[in-house]
Amino acid sequence: MRKTRIIATLGPATESPEMLGKMLDAGVDIFRLNMSHARHDWVRRVVPEIRRLGRLRGLIPGILMDTQGPSIRTGDVPERIPLAAGERFVFTVGDAVVPPGTKGTSVNYPDFVTDVRAGDTLIIDNGEMKMRVVATHPDRVECEVMTVGGLGSRRHINLPGVRVSLPALTEKDRADVKLGLELGVDYVALSFVRDPADIAMLRACLHGTSHPPQIVAKIEHQFAVDHFEAIARDSDAVMVARGDLGIECPYEELPIIQRRIVKTCQRIGRPVIVATHMLESMIENPLPTRAEITDVANAVFEQADAIMLSGETTVGRQPMACVEVMDRIARRIERSGGAGYHAEAELTQPRQKLVRSAVMLADNLRAAAILVFTRNGKLARYTSWMRPSFSPIYAFCDREPLAAQLKLLRGVTPIVLPSSHDDPDGSVDGAILRLMRGHRLKRGDTVVILVPHATSNDREVDSVKMHVV
Ligand code: PEP
Repeated sequence: MRKTRIIATLGPATESPEMLGKMLDAGVDIFRLNMSHARHDWVRRVVPEIRRLGRLRGLIPGILMDTQGPSIRTGDVPERIPLAAGERFVFTVGDAVVPPGTKGTSVNYPDFVTDVRAGDTLIIDNGEMKMRVVATHPDRVECEVMTVGGLGSRRHINLPGVRVSLPALTEKDRADVKLGLELGVDYVALSFVRDPADIAMLRACLHGTSHPPQIVAKIEHQFAVDHFEAIARDSDAVMVARGDLGIECPYEELPIIQRRIVKTCQRIGRPVIVATHMLESMIENPLPTRAEITDVANAVFEQADAIMLSGETTVGRQPMACVEVMDRIARRIERSGGAGYHAEAELTQPRQKLVRSAVMLADNLRAAAILVFTRNGKLARYTSWMRPSFSPIYAFCDREPLAAQLKLLRGVTPIVLPSSHDDPDGSVDGAILRLMRGHRLKRGDTVVILVPHATSNDREVDSVKMHVV
C-alpha cells in the first residue's frame, strides 16, 4: 500500500469520465479543481461525476477546490500572443482597450497601475516571461518584453515583494466557495494567504454549513512564510505552493522554506502537501527527469502527506504515466525509511499521547494494520500525525463526507462503516470482517485498535487494544 497521497489537478487532459475513472483506478486520492481556470458549469458537471465514478469502484475520492485568491491574472486572449525581446506590451485595467497596433491584454486588478512603477520587473506565467515596466498611466501599464515567449489567457503575474491591495477573498473567490459549499467539496485551498486573518475570513464564509470543507493554506508568498506557523495553526492543512513561492521568494531559499514548512507541519500536526513542477517535464515527455524523480522522492522521504500534479494532469500529454511515476517512486521510497520529523511532535492533549502509545505499540509489533474508529476525524488525524512505521491505518467512520476529508492524511484509508459506541467489540468484529473480505487482513495478523467506549457514567473513553485476527 502507498501511504503518500496523490493529488491530481483536473483539466482538458483528464476531465472526461473515461480519464477520471482511469485516474481513480491508478490511485489518485484527491482531485483538485483550479478555480483560476475552472468555470462553474464545468465544476457542476465534474464534481458529481467524480463522486459517481468513485462509488462505482467503492472508493471515496476527496475533492479540493483551489481558489484563485488575490492573484493578478491577465485577461482572455483569442489566441496566444507571440512575444519577442524588446517589444512593447500593454496591460490595461477596467474598460480600457489596448491601443491599436500595440500588443496587449487586460489584467483583473485595477490597482495594478498604481502598485507598479517604471523600472519594476513583472514575472509572468510562473517565470516563463519577464517584462520591465516602462511607464504607468491611469488606465494602462506599458512594458518592455525582456524574454522571448508567448502569452496565453489568464496567466499569472507576480510582483515579488509587493503587497497587492486585493482582499484575501475576492468576489470571484466568494462565488466559487459558495458553489463549493453547494456541491459539498471536501477541501478549499486559499491562495496567496498573507496572514492568519485571511484564514479567519475564509473560515467565516464556511461557518453555518453542516459539514464545512477543510481549509488548506497555500504558502506561496513571502508574507505567508513570515507568518507561517500562525497560519498553519489556524488552518486544517497546508500546501507548499512552490510555483509562486519560488518566484515570490529568492529561489535558493525555496528548499529551505519547503523543509521548514514540512517540519513545522509535522511538529504541530497539520497535513502538508508538496505541490507544483514535481514532474513538469512530463507535460511533454514520457519519462521524468532524474532531478524530478529525486524531488518527488525527497517529499516522500520527508513524509509529506501528499504530492500534487498540476499542469502534468491538466494539459499534459501523459497524465496516467505521471500518476504511475508518482505511485512507483512513493512506494519505493516509503520502504526505504523516512526523515522522522514527527519525533518533534508537540503533543498537548492526553488523547494525542494515547494515540502515540498505540502507534509505538503497532511499530513494536510490526502490526498488519491500525484500526481507528473516528467520529469527527480527530483520532485518525492524530494516528496519521504519529507516522506509523509499517502499519496502514484504516479509519472507520459513519459518513462519506468525513471519509473524503480523511483522504489527505498520510497512510490513512478511510472506510464508511456504521459502528456503535455501545458495542465497541461488535464494531471491531465488523471492521475486521470487512478488511478480511477486502483481502487487507488475514487470519493470524496482529492489529492495533483505537476505539472509543461509552462508560457507565455516560462518558466516553478511548481504548487501545491489540488483537490477533
Ligand atoms: C503554486 O503556485 O504552486 C500553486 C499550486 O498555485 P496555482 O497553481 O494556483 O498558481
